[in-house]
Amino acid sequence: MSRFITPTLAGLRPYTPGEQPPVNRRLVKLNTNENPYPPSSAVVDAIRDEEWRLQLYPDPGCAALRRAAAWFYGVAEDEVMAGNGSDEVLFFALRAFCDGGHGIARADITYTFYDTLCQLLHLPQRILPLREDFTIDPADYRGLNETIVIANPNAPTGLALDPEEIGAIAAANPDCVVIVDEAYVDFGARSCVPLTRRYENLLVVQTFSKSRQLAGARLGLAIGSRELIADLERVRGSLNPYNVSRTAQAAGTAALYNRGYFEETCRQIAETRAWAAEQLAARGFAMTDSLANFLFVNNGRMSGAAFTEALRRKNVVIRYFDLPRIRPWVRISVGTQEQMEVLLERVDRILQEG
Ligand SMILES: *Cc1c(COP(=O)(O)O)cnc(C)c1O
Repeated sequence: MSRFITPTLAGLRPYTPGEQPPVNRRLVKLNTNENPYPPSSAVVDAIRDEEWRLQLYPDPGCAALRRAAAWFYGVAEDEVMAGNGSDEVLFFALRAFCDGGHGIARADITYTFYDTLCQLLHLPQRILPLREDFTIDPADYRGLNETIVIANPNAPTGLALDPEEIGAIAAANPDCVVIVDEAYVDFGARSCVPLTRRYENLLVVQTFSKSRQLAGARLGLAIGSRELIADLERVRGSLNPYNVSRTAQAAGTAALYNRGYFEETCRQIAETRAWAAEQLAARGFAMTDSLANFLFVNNGRMSGAAFTEALRRKNVVIRYFDLPRIRPWVRISVGTQEQMEVLLERVDRILQEG
């Protein structure tokens, strides 16, 4: 740090991304919830078609991408905005709807990037503890005076509320924006997108990083009333009007129209998740009923950190969180069936070694 950084940022702790080791065929990478399958050939072709136009700026309005999203989600084009990853969309939303006098309300255990953004933007936070079993108690989310942020399914637990419960939260806080981060919704939970027409204060955030094989392209969406979207557009247009690259727009558009590949890979991941959960349960692991593309498990013997380290020595990368309440737990991304078989074989060796 230099002596020139502003005092307000001197104490900022940036988000800690999961490790991105060099691609190595021996390493089984199950630590950042990427999709284990490659993008479809239609997506790869769409990216190739853009390469020779990269000297030109991208469409700042992301028209083709928003048209595809409107088609896919059954909303209007001006009810959609695109961001450079959903993390950027979350930044736009908190910048638009919060300030020093009006912060966010969120669960104690959730996506840690919300906390990072609050530090960056100097936003106060109301922390609402999850129940003992890591579920959200919707009764905690009534009559609040903050922007409410709910990851649904939640990270890193994988537990989801029903859209009806989220709708009730939006109805119970009519003067607050309710942001629903649906990064993992496509693996088995139900989306709140259909509710955005009913609740003018409901904003859904989605990403192409988890269920659409495009973590490396950086693409996310916001879906909500045209007024909420216009607010986000004010921030986007003031920070980085060319926030989504040509290749990301082309890739995202092709991915949205390629519904079959999307549905088949999501189905495959849900099937592998069920199989791996059964296998881990048979070995005595406790786990949440995850609807996401990861399992949140407790081995009951060693800390999450020690278990993660033991697997790392056997070339399997998973993630633990050095946070109160979840230190014994680890998060394991659902990979291919073959990757999960390797994981279980290494787990068995760790258990045998004691
Ligand atoms: C992965 C993730 C994101 C970020 O996604 P990007 O689009 O890659 O920025 C947002 N929210 C949650 C809960 C996530 O797990």
